[in-house]
Amino acid sequence: MAKILISKENLFHNLELISNHAGSKEKVAVVLKDNAYGHGLLEIAKLASEFGIKKAVVRTLDEALIIKQFFDDILILSQRTFNTYSHTFHIALNSLEDINNLPMGCKVHIKVDTGMHRNGILPKELKEAILGLLKRNIIISGIFTHHRNADCLATDFFWQSSVFRQVKEDVKSICEELSLAIPSFHSCNSSALFRHNNFNEDFARVGIATYGYIENDSTFNLPNLKPVLSLWAKKISSRELKKGQCIGYGATYKVKEDMQVSTYDVGYGDGFLRLNENQDYSTPKGYKILGRVSMDSISLNSSDEEVCIFEDVRELAKLQNTISYEITTTLSKDIKRVVI
Ligand SMILES: *Cc1c(COP(=O)(O)O)cnc(C)c1O
Repeated sequence: MAKILISKENLFHNLELISNHAGSKEKVAVVLKDNAYGHGLLEIAKLASEFGIKKAVVRTLDEALIIKQFFDDILILSQRTFNTYSHTFHIALNSLEDINNLPMGCKVHIKVDTGMHRNGILPKELKEAILGLLKRNIIISGIFTHHRNADCLATDFFWQSSVFRQVKEDVKSICEELSLAIPSFHSCNSSALFRHNNFNEDFARVGIATYGYIENDSTFNLPNLKPVLSLWAKKISSRELKKGQCIGYGATYKVKEDMQVSTYDVGYGDGFLRLNENQDYSTPKGYKILGRVSMDSISLNSSDEEVCIFEDVRELAKLQNTISYEITTTLSKDIKRVVI
């Protein structure tokens, strides 16, 4: 069967770089949403916790429940109704109207819309939100925002940072007025964290850098991260093809001279890309994907029992005109993850 190998050494290398840049392990919240970007929720949660990370970020309550035992604090980004709750959880408030859906007495991080214009309340709604939450005995444990363009050399990053600085001031004065504890503040994803030279927020929410990638413009001084995931496939069968014979759907690859070809057990049904004849891709060992990727198989000019399909997704991302996030995140949950 196809399998995914997770390199503990590379993951720890990345977490070390990230923690050093953030200031300490306490200042890192590892983002584990969407099956840890395809790497395996439980596998990465266990490893990050073993490394000493205490905070995690997920998308749903179900994800939070699976990893509850490994972290002190878990931020849940987008869950609107709750049938169970734990004090390990901090729920992101994405709109004023959701205040009434929250469990009484829970902990909340208010998301503030500083320019992304997707989720969050407006800076001018802060006081209304805080008063609404207090009415339901809810603890405001954090205030956060998200950058829309931290990976590009554009002014957006500075503009949103200055809007958020004002948000912090406003929240502090509201908290003083109402005798509330000051919540934690956080605004940085991977790209934004590495744009700071003296990171001074309470923590950063680090996703893609944990897994070994960063999408920033190359003009920035980028850390030496290492990809954590590699995809492997097993041989199903081999055959000798004659010059002129074609491989796969659409018969788009014509064999140029007699050659040994094998089929391997990974395809777009496993969440791998449906590469086609116009995309010239070679595996790390130099084997070519011949013709189109099928649902459950690909053909390579190899006879190895097992081949590594990729160990670094950047080339594939470029070929497919997408970002590293998409290629790892779409890998099926059913592929076995093995930590090495
Ligand atoms: C996904 C996500 C992150 C992580 O972003 P990376 O670019 O992968 O580091 C941080 N914050 C929020 C709100 C997110 O949704």
